[in-house]
Amino acid sequence: MPHSKNISEDSFDIVIVGAGFAGMYMLYKLRSMGLNTRVYERGDGVGGTWYWNRYPGARCDLESMEYSYSFDNDLQQEWNWKEKYGTQPELLKYANHVADRFDLRRDIEFKTRLNSAQYNDVTGRLDLTTNRGSRATAAHLVLATGNLSTPQPPKIDGVADFNGRSFHTGNWPHVNVDFRKRRVGIIGTGSSAVQAIPEIAKQAAHLTVFQRTANFSIPAHHGPLESAEREAKKARYDVIRASANETPFGIAKFGSPTQSAWDVNGAERQKIYEEAWAIGGQALLFTFTDILTDRDANETAAEFVRERIREVVKDPAIAELLCPKDHPIGTKRLCLDSFYYETYNRDNVTLIDVKKMPISRITPSAVVVGDKSYEIDDLVLATGFDAMTGAARDINIVGEMGIRLSDRWAAGPQTYLGIMVASFPNMYLITGPQSPGVKSQMILSIEYHVEIIAKMIDKIRREGLRTVRAKPEAQAAWVEHNNLVANKTLYPTAASWYMGANIPGKARVFMPYVGGVKEYRAICGKVMTDNWRGFAFSNN
Ligand code: NAP
Repeated sequence: MPHSKNISEDSFDIVIVGAGFAGMYMLYKLRSMGLNTRVYERGDGVGGTWYWNRYPGARCDLESMEYSYSFDNDLQQEWNWKEKYGTQPELLKYANHVADRFDLRRDIEFKTRLNSAQYNDVTGRLDLTTNRGSRATAAHLVLATGNLSTPQPPKIDGVADFNGRSFHTGNWPHVNVDFRKRRVGIIGTGSSAVQAIPEIAKQAAHLTVFQRTANFSIPAHHGPLESAEREAKKARYDVIRASANETPFGIAKFGSPTQSAWDVNGAERQKIYEEAWAIGGQALLFTFTDILTDRDANETAAEFVRERIREVVKDPAIAELLCPKDHPIGTKRLCLDSFYYETYNRDNVTLIDVKKMPISRITPSAVVVGDKSYEIDDLVLATGFDAMTGAARDINIVGEMGIRLSDRWAAGPQTYLGIMVASFPNMYLITGPQSPGVKSQMILSIEYHVEIIAKMIDKIRREGLRTVRAKPEAQAAWVEHNNLVANKTLYPTAASWYMGANIPGKARVFMPYVGGVKEYRAICGKVMTDNWRGFAFSNN
């Protein structure tokens, strides 16, 4: 029977940071190996993304029958997703169900933030401190800190002085926010805003949307998940899960496309786009092999979407403002929506272009653009996250010989397989930079990393070893490979959070691995069978 020590212990086999889907499964896995594991979680509940992002309309943009754990068949058979795309409350309920079902909470210290982690060259352990003033040591440290978990308020003069209610979508209050009879301003038009805007518009007296960059959004075609469909999927869950691993982005229903956009004529292409549009979600990106590699092919899909926007939005000038023209479709995360573009036909919604004329400042009662002041009662900041590296860099992490992670990553993150960082022994990342993580079905990628990390820790214990390190030369080769793969695509051409471009001063480096889930698993599989090529296991 696995054991765990009580809360007063300060010496652990493993400390995990974060109790989202990554941290919870890591805890389950390590505990099942009989390891003394502690999780530090800054919130007062489990669920990570789904704990923090409670804004109106928040829901997953991958179908829940796939965006869910596969590690326990009873769990996936007993849980009944109610809607095709899980809502935030449903996903949070699911996270809590998992925590209860596997009795995870007893090893999670809530409201606890890891302040520092320093590798001790003498003991070969990590010395840890928390915001609560506690100290601990651990043989291993797992960062399950999430890729989109450090909300980024905009750097606009006066934003902190706004006198009305102010909310960031990534740190939303835990109580219902009532926008009735309120004049609301929202800054941002990324995935979070695209979901929130239609819902806020239904309530608010007036909603003013401040848009810097128009994004491509595709209808999600949400709806209830009928029990017949749900049961049919459950019956073939093993096939669905296995086939997801064979796809580019870990989504079973989106296999690799087989033909180029130029293999068909214009009419056929249009028909294929229409079919994808009817499916909704990400389907459009899986129509042709070259959508994300050939600018002209990409433009055919982009223009198809712009045409749909022009059809929906009645005012042609507003429609044109909403048509993205500065990046290829799919190179910024594609948004999924429910009646987003339709919302701009409402009388109580105004769209303000802040590209040509940026927001100059925020006063206690207004957003100021040029010489025009937009008076509001509530300010919603849908301005995104310090993605992929923000959470790790927020912790003072020091590796061997005093090397700081924030210095190491100053010019962009460097990892081996997105799992370890050279010079940081026994420290692991779940879905770190240079892994498919954010470019895949996240839970599938989480499960794969958890299993690899568990195998590494198991090897160390079984063989009486002390440390595992990523070899610097293996890391350098992996980073180079990532860059080569990315540079064959259109991704680096967009000023996206994948590139760190949304954070002023952040190094512009394309961070995710975009070679695909299938390829990545093949590479990791080879690394493992090749006696953990690129990793150095040792006694010191
Ligand atoms: P985001 O995609 O980074 O969007 C942030 C928005 O704020 C952008 O429109 C950005 O404009 C704007 N912005 C930032 N600073 C600004 C400023 N000073 N002035 C004007 N506009 C400013 O963030 P997000 O919408 O929170 O989404 C982040 C990611 O989270 C998504 O890409 C997705 O991966 C994930 N997410 C997923 C779901 C889902 O599963 N359904 C939902 C929400 C989020 P620019 O583009 O010009 O920088």
